[in-house]
Amino acid sequence: MKINDYIRDIPDFPKPGIVFKDITPLLADSKALVYCADRLTSFCPKDIKIDKVIGIESRGFIIGPMIAERLQAGFVPVRKKGKLPYRVKSVKYSLEYGEDTLEIHVDAIKPGEHILIHDDVLATGGTAKAVCDLVQQLGGVVVQCNFIMQLEFLNGNDKLDVPVASLVDY
Ligand code: AMP
Repeated sequence: MKINDYIRDIPDFPKPGIVFKDITPLLADSKALVYCADRLTSFCPKDIKIDKVIGIESRGFIIGPMIAERLQAGFVPVRKKGKLPYRVKSVKYSLEYGEDTLEIHVDAIKPGEHILIHDDVLATGGTAKAVCDLVQQLGGVVVQCNFIMQLEFLNGNDKLDVPVASLVDY
């Protein structure tokens, strides 16, 4: 199956100069959706039991739980500042302009747990790197970061010192 056919380019969204990769056509097609979750699950190392899959707000919350179900792992949301109700650990990270903050519940990961991080797009890598730092602060071990797609020309991979997997590379 050609997953590219289900990813739509939206020029100048959310601001001029950005080509937004819209995955809603992929989500709307049951075969493409299941294929995507199956393939991303198949990229996970077979010799390590993944304890938790982290999904990054918000598009990581869609396929992340599908991967977790397939791996018989738990699902943990990492959210933007102020959204999680219990005590949190926070990390600040750089955006193109300025900074943002991501948070995780302090009890979401136990020391030594094996973690898979999932999001829809790897762009500059700042977001995924920040989530790797959160996992490390809680004593978890990131086994892999996996994405529906990588924008290779932005070299996000270089920021991550863990294995990276993706279905589609642009
Ligand atoms: P980055 O931190 O630069 O790797 O950006 C990754 C985050 O921003 C992910 O959560 C993506 O959902 C989102 N993102 C970045 N660039 C794009 C893009 N061109 N299209 C859709 N989402 C994007």
